[in-house]
Amino acid sequence: MSATVIDGKAFAASVREKVAGHVARLKEEQGIVPGLAVVLVGEDPASQVYVRSKGKQTVEVGMKSFEYKLPDTTTEDELLAVIDKLNNDPQVHGILVQLPLPSHMNSDLVINAIDPAKDVDGFHISNVGLLGTGQKSMVPCTPLGCLMMLRDHHGSLSGLNAVVIGRSNIVGKPMAQLLLGDSCTVTIAHSRTKDIEAVVRQADIVVAAVGRPEMVTGDWIKPGATVIDVGINRIDAGEGKTRLVGDCHYDSCAEVAGAITPVPGGVGPMTIACLLANTVTACCRANGLPEPKGLTA
Ligand code: NDP
Repeated sequence: MSATVIDGKAFAASVREKVAGHVARLKEEQGIVPGLAVVLVGEDPASQVYVRSKGKQTVEVGMKSFEYKLPDTTTEDELLAVIDKLNNDPQVHGILVQLPLPSHMNSDLVINAIDPAKDVDGFHISNVGLLGTGQKSMVPCTPLGCLMMLRDHHGSLSGLNAVVIGRSNIVGKPMAQLLLGDSCTVTIAHSRTKDIEAVVRQADIVVAAVGRPEMVTGDWIKPGATVIDVGINRIDAGEGKTRLVGDCHYDSCAEVAGAITPVPGGVGPMTIACLLANTVTACCRANGLPEPKGLTA
Protein backbone atom coordinates (compact mmCIF):
# COMPACT_ATOMS: atom_id res chain seq x y z
CA MET A 1 0.00 0.00 0.00
CA SER A 2 1.20 3.51 -0.67
CA ALA A 3 -0.24 6.15 1.61
CA THR A 4 -2.14 9.24 0.51
CA VAL A 5 0.04 12.23 1.30
CA ILE A 6 -1.80 14.83 3.37
CA ASP A 7 -0.45 18.08 1.97
CA GLY A 8 -0.21 20.48 4.91
CA LYS A 9 1.16 23.28 2.76
CA ALA A 10 -1.87 23.26 0.46
CA PHE A 11 -4.24 22.79 3.40
CA ALA A 12 -2.65 25.72 5.26
CA ALA A 13 -3.07 27.87 2.14
CA SER A 14 -6.78 26.99 2.07
CA VAL A 15 -7.11 27.91 5.78
CA ARG A 16 -5.38 31.26 5.15
CA GLU A 17 -7.74 31.87 2.23
CA LYS A 18 -10.75 31.25 4.47
CA VAL A 19 -9.29 33.57 7.12
CA ALA A 20 -8.60 36.28 4.51
CA GLY A 21 -12.20 36.01 3.24
CA HIS A 22 -13.54 36.39 6.75
CA VAL A 23 -11.23 39.31 7.51
CA ALA A 24 -12.40 41.06 4.32
CA ARG A 25 -16.07 40.57 5.33
CA LEU A 26 -15.39 41.87 8.85
CA LYS A 27 -13.81 44.99 7.36
CA GLU A 28 -16.55 45.57 4.81
CA GLU A 29 -19.59 44.79 6.93
CA GLN A 30 -18.46 45.79 10.44
CA GLY A 31 -15.50 48.12 9.90
CA ILE A 32 -13.43 45.84 12.15
CA VAL A 33 -9.83 44.79 11.41
CA PRO A 34 -8.59 41.83 13.48
CA GLY A 35 -5.21 42.47 15.10
CA LEU A 36 -2.51 40.07 16.32
CA ALA A 37 0.29 41.16 18.67
CA VAL A 38 3.41 39.01 18.88
CA VAL A 39 5.87 39.63 21.70
CA LEU A 40 9.46 38.40 21.42
CA VAL A 41 11.92 38.70 24.27
CA GLY A 42 15.60 38.20 23.43
CA GLU A 43 17.56 37.30 20.32
CA ASP A 44 16.90 33.56 19.84
CA PRO A 45 17.44 33.11 16.06
CA ALA A 46 14.76 30.42 15.59
CA SER A 47 12.20 32.56 17.48
CA GLN A 48 13.09 35.58 15.34
CA VAL A 49 12.37 33.55 12.18
CA TYR A 50 8.99 32.37 13.58
CA VAL A 51 8.01 35.90 14.62
CA ARG A 52 8.90 37.36 11.20
CA SER A 53 6.91 34.64 9.48
CA LYS A 54 3.90 35.18 11.75
CA GLY A 55 3.97 38.96 11.14
CA LYS A 56 4.22 38.51 7.36
CA GLN A 57 1.33 36.04 7.15
CA THR A 58 -0.82 38.19 9.47
CA VAL A 59 -0.50 41.13 7.09
CA GLU A 60 -1.05 38.89 4.03
CA VAL A 61 -4.51 37.84 5.25
CA GLY A 62 -5.45 41.49 5.83
CA MET A 63 -5.07 41.65 9.61
CA LYS A 64 -3.09 44.16 11.64
CA SER A 65 0.23 42.93 12.98
CA PHE A 66 1.80 44.43 16.10
CA GLU A 67 5.34 43.30 16.90
CA TYR A 68 7.07 43.90 20.22
CA LYS A 69 10.75 43.00 20.23
CA LEU A 70 12.13 43.36 23.72
CA PRO A 71 15.77 42.93 24.76
CA ASP A 72 17.06 39.97 26.78
CA THR A 73 17.47 42.31 29.74
CA THR A 74 13.71 43.00 29.96
CA THR A 75 12.40 42.29 33.46
CA GLU A 76 9.34 40.16 34.10
CA ASP A 77 7.50 43.27 35.37
CA GLU A 78 8.29 45.14 32.17
CA LEU A 79 6.96 42.24 30.09
CA LEU A 80 3.82 42.03 32.26
CA ALA A 81 3.29 45.76 31.66
CA VAL A 82 3.40 45.21 27.87
CA ILE A 83 0.89 42.36 28.18
CA ASP A 84 -1.39 44.53 30.31
CA LYS A 85 -1.30 47.25 27.67
CA LEU A 86 -2.16 44.73 24.93
CA ASN A 87 -4.95 43.19 27.05
CA ASN A 88 -6.54 46.65 27.17
CA ASP A 89 -5.97 47.60 23.54
CA PRO A 90 -9.22 47.18 21.54
CA GLN A 91 -7.25 46.93 18.28
CA VAL A 92 -5.53 43.78 19.54
CA HIS A 93 -7.65 40.61 19.41
CA GLY A 94 -4.85 38.06 19.75
CA ILE A 95 -1.69 38.10 21.86
CA LEU A 96 1.15 35.62 21.47
CA VAL A 97 4.25 35.61 23.63
CA GLN A 98 6.93 33.71 21.75
CA LEU A 99 8.35 30.83 23.80
CA PRO A 100 10.85 29.99 25.16
CA LEU A 101 11.25 33.05 27.36
CA PRO A 102 14.64 33.91 28.89
CA SER A 103 15.41 31.84 31.99
CA HIS A 104 14.87 34.75 34.42
CA MET A 105 11.16 34.77 33.57
CA ASN A 106 8.37 32.52 34.82
CA SER A 107 6.62 31.42 31.61
CA ASP A 108 3.48 30.17 33.39
CA LEU A 109 3.05 33.49 35.16
CA VAL A 110 3.56 35.44 31.93
CA ILE A 111 1.19 33.28 29.85
CA ASN A 112 -1.47 33.43 32.55
CA ALA A 113 -1.27 37.24 32.51
CA ILE A 114 -2.70 37.26 28.96
CA ASP A 115 -6.45 37.90 28.73
CA PRO A 116 -7.77 34.34 28.04
CA ALA A 117 -10.06 35.75 25.33
CA LYS A 118 -6.93 37.02 23.49
CA ASP A 119 -4.79 33.94 24.22
CA VAL A 120 -4.53 32.73 20.61
CA ASP A 121 -1.88 30.14 21.55
CA GLY A 122 -4.42 28.50 23.89
CA PHE A 123 -1.87 28.05 26.69
CA HIS A 124 -3.63 30.11 29.41
CA ILE A 125 -4.76 27.89 32.26
CA SER A 126 -8.40 28.97 31.70
CA ASN A 127 -8.28 27.80 28.10
CA VAL A 128 -6.60 24.54 29.15
CA GLY A 129 -9.46 23.97 31.63
CA LEU A 130 -12.16 24.91 29.12
CA LEU A 131 -10.73 22.50 26.53
CA GLY A 132 -10.42 19.75 29.16
CA THR A 133 -14.08 20.14 30.09
CA GLY A 134 -15.28 20.31 26.48
CA GLN A 135 -16.19 23.99 26.58
CA LYS A 136 -15.56 26.72 24.02
CA SER A 137 -11.91 27.81 24.33
CA MET A 138 -8.92 29.06 22.39
CA VAL A 139 -7.27 25.86 21.14
CA PRO A 140 -3.46 25.44 20.79
CA CYS A 141 -2.52 25.95 17.14
CA THR A 142 -0.52 22.80 16.33
CA PRO A 143 -3.10 20.28 17.61
CA LEU A 144 -5.88 22.36 16.03
CA GLY A 145 -4.08 22.06 12.68
CA CYS A 146 -3.78 18.28 13.13
CA LEU A 147 -7.48 18.02 13.97
CA MET A 148 -8.46 20.03 10.88
CA MET A 149 -6.41 17.74 8.63
CA LEU A 150 -7.84 14.61 10.27
CA ARG A 151 -11.43 15.86 9.92
CA ASP A 152 -10.80 16.76 6.31
CA HIS A 153 -9.37 13.32 5.55
CA HIS A 154 -11.79 11.15 7.53
CA GLY A 155 -14.97 13.18 7.78
CA SER A 156 -16.16 11.80 11.15
CA LEU A 157 -13.53 10.61 13.64
CA SER A 158 -16.13 9.03 15.90
CA GLY A 159 -15.17 5.63 17.29
CA LEU A 160 -11.68 5.56 15.77
CA ASN A 161 -8.76 4.41 17.93
CA ALA A 162 -6.25 7.25 18.27
CA VAL A 163 -2.82 6.99 19.82
CA VAL A 164 -1.03 10.24 20.63
CA ILE A 165 2.68 9.74 21.30
CA GLY A 166 3.86 12.53 23.61
CA ARG A 167 2.18 14.21 26.57
CA SER A 168 3.44 17.80 26.40
CA ASN A 169 1.14 20.65 27.37
CA ILE A 170 1.47 22.29 23.97
CA VAL A 171 0.89 19.29 21.68
CA GLY A 172 0.23 15.85 23.18
CA LYS A 173 -2.31 16.65 25.90
CA PRO A 174 -4.46 19.14 23.93
CA MET A 175 -4.32 16.81 20.89
CA ALA A 176 -5.70 13.98 23.02
CA GLN A 177 -8.47 16.26 24.36
CA LEU A 178 -9.45 17.32 20.85
CA LEU A 179 -9.60 13.73 19.60
CA LEU A 180 -11.68 12.79 22.63
CA GLY A 181 -13.96 15.73 21.81
CA ASP A 182 -14.46 14.17 18.36
CA SER A 183 -15.34 10.83 20.03
CA CYS A 184 -12.14 8.91 19.30
CA THR A 185 -10.98 6.27 21.76
CA VAL A 186 -7.75 7.91 22.86
CA THR A 187 -4.52 6.51 24.28
CA ILE A 188 -1.61 8.75 25.23
CA ALA A 189 1.79 7.06 24.96
CA HIS A 190 5.00 8.52 26.41
CA SER A 191 8.54 7.63 27.39
CA ARG A 192 7.37 5.18 30.10
CA THR A 193 4.79 3.36 27.96
CA LYS A 194 5.42 -0.39 27.89
CA ASP A 195 5.60 -2.08 24.50
CA ILE A 196 4.82 1.16 22.72
CA GLU A 197 5.01 -0.49 19.29
CA ALA A 198 2.08 -2.78 20.20
CA VAL A 199 0.10 0.19 21.56
CA VAL A 200 0.66 2.20 18.37
CA ARG A 201 -0.24 -0.82 16.22
CA GLN A 202 -3.82 -0.66 17.58
CA ALA A 203 -4.32 2.85 16.24
CA ASP A 204 -6.47 3.99 13.33
CA ILE A 205 -4.90 7.42 13.91
CA VAL A 206 -1.33 7.97 15.13
CA VAL A 207 -0.20 11.45 16.15
CA ALA A 208 3.54 11.51 16.87
CA ALA A 209 4.76 14.49 18.93
CA VAL A 210 7.95 13.22 20.49
CA GLY A 211 11.00 15.07 19.20
CA ARG A 212 12.93 11.88 18.32
CA PRO A 213 13.98 11.63 14.69
CA GLU A 214 12.25 8.80 12.78
CA MET A 215 11.39 6.87 15.95
CA VAL A 216 8.12 5.43 14.62
CA THR A 217 8.77 2.91 11.85
CA GLY A 218 6.42 1.17 9.43
CA ASP A 219 6.23 -2.01 11.52
CA TRP A 220 4.52 0.04 14.30
CA ILE A 221 1.70 1.09 11.99
CA LYS A 222 -1.59 -0.76 11.43
CA PRO A 223 -2.20 -1.15 7.68
CA GLY A 224 -4.36 1.74 6.46
CA ALA A 225 -3.89 3.92 9.56
CA THR A 226 -3.53 7.70 9.32
CA VAL A 227 -0.17 9.03 10.52
CA ILE A 228 0.16 12.66 11.61
CA ASP A 229 3.80 13.53 12.21
CA VAL A 230 4.24 16.61 14.39
CA GLY A 231 7.98 16.15 14.94
CA ILE A 232 10.49 18.59 13.54
CA ASN A 233 14.03 17.28 13.93
CA ARG A 234 17.17 18.47 12.20
CA ILE A 235 19.60 15.64 11.49
CA ASP A 236 23.04 15.35 9.96
CA ALA A 237 22.82 14.70 6.21
CA GLY A 238 26.57 14.39 5.66
CA GLU A 239 28.98 16.78 3.94
CA GLY A 240 28.30 19.38 6.62
CA LYS A 241 24.60 19.55 5.67
CA THR A 242 21.48 18.91 7.71
CA ARG A 243 17.93 17.95 6.81
CA LEU A 244 14.54 18.02 8.53
CA VAL A 245 12.82 14.78 9.49
CA GLY A 246 9.78 13.98 11.55
CA ASP A 247 9.25 11.60 14.46
CA CYS A 248 8.12 8.97 11.95
CA HIS A 249 10.31 7.18 9.44
CA TYR A 250 8.50 8.47 6.39
CA ASP A 251 9.27 5.83 3.76
CA SER A 252 8.52 2.76 5.88
CA CYS A 253 5.38 4.33 7.45
CA ALA A 254 4.09 5.48 4.05
CA GLU A 255 4.29 1.88 2.78
CA VAL A 256 1.83 0.70 5.43
CA ALA A 257 -0.30 3.74 6.30
CA GLY A 258 -3.45 4.82 4.51
CA ALA A 259 -2.49 8.49 4.81
CA ILE A 260 0.50 10.39 6.16
CA THR A 261 1.75 13.94 6.65
CA PRO A 262 5.27 14.63 5.35
CA VAL A 263 8.00 16.58 7.14
CA PRO A 264 8.49 19.28 6.03
CA GLY A 265 5.18 20.31 4.46
CA GLY A 266 2.73 18.54 6.79
CA VAL A 267 1.80 19.80 10.25
CA GLY A 268 4.37 22.64 10.25
CA PRO A 269 2.60 25.05 7.88
CA MET A 270 -0.73 24.46 9.65
CA THR A 271 0.51 25.95 12.92
CA ILE A 272 0.72 29.58 11.76
CA ALA A 273 -2.44 29.17 9.65
CA CYS A 274 -4.27 28.12 12.84
CA LEU A 275 -2.81 31.08 14.73
CA LEU A 276 -4.44 33.35 12.14
CA ALA A 277 -7.67 31.33 12.39
CA ASN A 278 -7.64 31.70 16.19
CA THR A 279 -7.12 35.47 15.86
CA VAL A 280 -10.14 35.92 13.61
CA THR A 281 -12.17 33.69 15.94
CA ALA A 282 -11.09 35.77 18.96
CA CYS A 283 -12.02 38.95 17.09
CA CYS A 284 -15.51 37.64 16.27
CA ARG A 285 -16.08 36.52 19.87
CA ALA A 286 -14.88 39.90 21.22
CA ASN A 287 -17.40 41.67 19.01
CA GLY A 288 -20.31 39.27 19.63
CA LEU A 289 -20.29 38.15 15.99
CA PRO A 290 -20.77 34.62 14.62
CA GLU A 291 -17.52 32.65 14.43
CA PRO A 292 -16.10 31.62 11.07
CA LYS A 293 -17.10 28.05 10.21
CA GLY A 294 -14.41 25.37 9.90
CA LEU A 295 -11.71 27.39 11.65
CA THR A 296 -12.33 26.25 15.23
CA ALA A 297 -12.41 22.91 17.06
P1 NDP B 1 8.25 17.73 24.47
O1 NDP B 1 9.71 17.44 24.57
O2 NDP B 1 7.64 18.74 25.34
O3 NDP B 1 7.47 16.35 24.70
C1 NDP B 1 7.89 15.17 24.10
C2 NDP B 1 7.05 14.02 24.56
O4 NDP B 1 7.53 12.85 23.93
C3 NDP B 1 7.10 13.78 26.07
O5 NDP B 1 5.80 13.58 26.56
C4 NDP B 1 7.94 12.52 26.20
O6 NDP B 1 7.51 11.65 27.22
C5 NDP B 1 7.68 11.82 24.88
N1 NDP B 1 8.81 10.95 24.56
C6 NDP B 1 10.12 11.25 24.58
N2 NDP B 1 10.84 10.16 24.25
C7 NDP B 1 9.97 9.17 24.01
C8 NDP B 1 10.10 7.81 23.62
N3 NDP B 1 11.29 7.24 23.42
N4 NDP B 1 8.99 7.08 23.48
C9 NDP B 1 7.78 7.62 23.70
N5 NDP B 1 7.59 8.92 24.06
C10 NDP B 1 8.67 9.67 24.20
O7 NDP B 1 7.99 18.03 22.93
P2 NDP B 1 6.80 18.85 22.20
O8 NDP B 1 5.50 18.20 22.46
O9 NDP B 1 6.96 20.28 22.47
O10 NDP B 1 7.22 18.60 20.67
C11 NDP B 1 7.27 17.32 20.12
C12 NDP B 1 7.81 17.43 18.69
O11 NDP B 1 6.93 18.23 17.92
C13 NDP B 1 9.18 18.11 18.58
O12 NDP B 1 9.88 17.51 17.50
C14 NDP B 1 8.85 19.54 18.20
O13 NDP B 1 9.87 20.17 17.48
C15 NDP B 1 7.63 19.32 17.34
N6 NDP B 1 6.72 20.47 17.29
C16 NDP B 1 6.26 20.84 16.06
C17 NDP B 1 5.38 21.86 15.93
C18 NDP B 1 4.89 22.21 14.57
O14 NDP B 1 4.46 23.32 14.33
N7 NDP B 1 4.87 21.27 13.63
C19 NDP B 1 4.93 22.65 17.08
C20 NDP B 1 5.37 22.11 18.35
C21 NDP B 1 6.25 21.07 18.43
P3 NDP B 1 7.70 11.98 28.80
O15 NDP B 1 6.62 12.98 29.10
O16 NDP B 1 7.48 10.68 29.44
O17 NDP B 1 9.07 12.55 28.94
